[in-house]
Amino acid sequence: PAPGAAAADDDARPEILVADDNPDMRELVAFILGREFRVRTARNGREALDLLEGFVPDLIVSDIMMPEMSGTELCRAVKADPRLAGVPVMLVSSKAESEMKIEGLELGADDYVTKPFHPRELLARARSHAQLRRTRRELEERNGELERTLRDLKLAEAQLVQAERLAAVGELAAGIAHEVNNPVNYALNAVRAMVGVADELHDIAAAVAALDWTDRSSLEREGAVVRAQIENAQVDRLAADLAELAKIVSDGLDRTHRLVADLRDFAAPGRGTDERVDLRECARATAELVRHDLAGQGASLALSLPDAPVQVAGDPGALNQVLLNLVKNAAEAFDGAGGSIEVEVAREAGDGVVRVRDDGPGIAPAVMERLFEPFFTTKQAGKGTGLGLSMCRRIADAHGGRLEVESEVGRGSCFTLRIPVGAGDQEEEHAT
Ligand code: ADP
Repeated sequence: PAPGAAAADDDARPEILVADDNPDMRELVAFILGREFRVRTARNGREALDLLEGFVPDLIVSDIMMPEMSGTELCRAVKADPRLAGVPVMLVSSKAESEMKIEGLELGADDYVTKPFHPRELLARARSHAQLRRTRRELEERNGELERTLRDLKLAEAQLVQAERLAAVGELAAGIAHEVNNPVNYALNAVRAMVGVADELHDIAAAVAALDWTDRSSLEREGAVVRAQIENAQVDRLAADLAELAKIVSDGLDRTHRLVADLRDFAAPGRGTDERVDLRECARATAELVRHDLAGQGASLALSLPDAPVQVAGDPGALNQVLLNLVKNAAEAFDGAGGSIEVEVAREAGDGVVRVRDDGPGIAPAVMERLFEPFFTTKQAGKGTGLGLSMCRRIADAHGGRLEVESEVGRGSCFTLRIPVGAGDQEEEHAT
């Protein structure tokens, strides 16, 4: 082929760039390689580099001694260019040029052939280099694809986790609506009663205001009526009623406020793991949120909390989600038969620890092995997603902690979440 000539576009054979200043040699090499490859040719290193601006071959076969730019210089330029560095370079040298051959190899040349060579040797070497190059390129593409897929998967997983959270909020909503409904109803009734009391007090105040304090005889007469009214209404009792009703209202609102705050903490999207979180609070909030659901399933939940705070640095929503999942799993393991769950918070050797223990059926060894795999579930389709425990473990990892399980078939299971207590908190504890 003429120097630089490209083969037809639909030719899928690997492509080789041949650089040689000797026209006979160039044509010979091109002819030999042309049996299996598309070949382009250049008359020296400079011309080869110019051609390389427009394409990336699968192999460069270059003579060493050439005017304008030698094969070793071409090799150096190719290996220094990130776009071309992966292209293998095969130097063709005469025996006399062995010094330069070594230099070329030091510059990153991948192979060399000594003149005179057998055509089959040249072809065989070119074949293996081109093949390697192809394979590497395919691998890189495959790798790129894998990386993209992994990114997509991570995104999908994050979405699934968020969806799982929202689903849990949805499930909890019914129980929480009930929990909120009670105190709000109390508060409403109390407020109605308060309005009645206020009306009575208002009537009495109006009667007192209407007294004519300048007319002694009318004052005595009307005053007796007002006194009777006051006695009738038992103002002392009214005042006490008001205080009591006010307490009912404020308790109800407090409870509602706490539930809403717990739910808000739970539903908030990830906030990073550096808030100060008291694990006792997580346990308490989770227990509040599930209380109603558990009661409906005949399951009981006992909290065992230490007096002192167990502070860790974390994301309260995420930690609540772990506890909620563990408690829900325990309740689901009872499968309607009822049972007891204990949530224990403790501080053990630099770790904040939460244990969720149940006296359910336990976990069979075969299930145990796969427990933390994403999408592994033993529950019916539509009931379990199999994401719960894998997500819990991820959250524990993200906090620099661990989630572990012990279980005995027929006796129950115990999940232990350990989160290291931050350095600041340890000092704090030593100081106190
Ligand atoms: P899901 O709850 O959606 O199935 P998880 O990852 O939370 O997904 O749980 C995976 C499996 O682990 C459950 O299907 C169940 O078989 C088992 N499992 C989890 N917790 C318990 C437990 N406390 N007792 C018995 N089995 C459990």
